Amino acid sequence: MTGHTDVIVIGAGHSGLAMSAWLAAHSVEHVVFERGEVANSWRHERWDSLRLLTPNWQSRLPGYRFDGPPDGFMTMTEVIQFVTRYASFIGAPVRTGITVTSVRQDGDGFRVMTHEGEWHCRAVVMANGAHGIANVPALAASLPASVRSLSAKDYRNPGRLDDAGVLVVGASATGLQLADEIAASGRAVTLAVGEHIRMPRSYRGRDIQWWLTQAGILDQRFDQVDDLVRARRVPSPQLVGAARTLDLNALTARGVRIVGRLVGLDGSSTSRGSRGRRWLFRIAQSAAWAVHRPGSGDTNAGHARIGQLRTEHHQQEPGGPGDRPDRAPGAWPRLKRRAPRDRELASRYPSWPGL
Ligand SMILES: Cc1cc2nc3c(=O)[nH]c(=O)nc-3n(C[C@H](O)[C@H](O)[C@H](O)COP(=O)(O)OP(=O)(O)OC[C@H]3O[C@@H](n4cnc5c(N)ncnc54)[C@H](O)[C@@H]3O)c2cc1C
Repeated sequence: MTGHTDVIVIGAGHSGLAMSAWLAAHSVEHVVFERGEVANSWRHERWDSLRLLTPNWQSRLPGYRFDGPPDGFMTMTEVIQFVTRYASFIGAPVRTGITVTSVRQDGDGFRVMTHEGEWHCRAVVMANGAHGIANVPALAASLPASVRSLSAKDYRNPGRLDDAGVLVVGASATGLQLADEIAASGRAVTLAVGEHIRMPRSYRGRDIQWWLTQAGILDQRFDQVDDLVRARRVPSPQLVGAARTLDLNALTARGVRIVGRLVGLDGSSTSRGSRGRRWLFRIAQSAAWAVHRPGSGDTNAGHARIGQLRTEHHQQEPGGPGDRPDRAPGAWPRLKRRAPRDRELASRYPSWPGL
């Protein structure tokens, strides 16, 4: 199959579809190539219980909005329906099951290779998503074969895990939600916490997303951000799609063990009698990445079987993550302003509670 069109859009998520709507509104001939189905990421790369952490009133597409309760949080089924219905609503020229394999400049335009053949166009829109490749740290390769490791992209529900302790690495929205769900299933969970952003679900009676919107933070353009490289690396806030605050204190209350960053695996092992090897993990940051070790059903001993966790400096500092299980949710500890980076972050949210 070969073809020619003005614009090729890669990806039929909501970005690609919104772009399609605008191109159609300006009578620009185009085609949307999608390697899977419309809303593919939401169909195949999310866990079962996930709800959007953005309230329904925030889910809008050009000329279209979700008609559920404004303050609710969409399930995955609802997101898939929402995006799929939008594709029909705008009559988007989507070609599903076509993977774009390369894009090359070709004279004034582009040559776009797909599994189905070659296309030519004047412009290409890359709407192929930002979360397609799991950010698994290289140290995962050093895990012993007896420790099963999976990324958040592959995680579906606790029922698919072996009945053993779990180390969740990364404590942004995904890591927190997975730690919460896995702990609720009765497994012993350790959460390795690196840099993270705390956020209450609501503040003074309003959802936090309302405040972020009103403050103009969500409208900031890339060229208005002081440090774009840094901004791109800022973790997503600790939020869950429910009318409750999910934070390290809530997890501590649930029995999750909070530790610092995962910085490596020693690779060494010590004998632990009949239980076999005890692996030594040093704690460090990574994107949401969960490791767990299949083994006996003795989940109470899960932490020990997963490994002895050696933490970096901030694990047990006063005011550090999870050190105040007594603190009521909503009572926010004062941020320590030691590292320049913390000060920089703090200055962006001058009216933040506790700052
Ligand atoms: C766990 C998780 C939870 C999230 N929760 C929220 C939330 O609550 N609220 C919120 O606003 N955002 C949330 N996000 C972010 C949200 O998923 C993204 O911002 C959004 O999906 C981006 O839309 P997109 O259209 O750019 O990309 P995607 O929805 O990822 O769409 C990209 C499309 O491109 C296709 N594609 C990729 N490569 C190719 C190729 N080579 N050829 C053809 N097609 C290709 C993919 O199959 C996919 O369908 C979450 C993300 C994750 C990972």
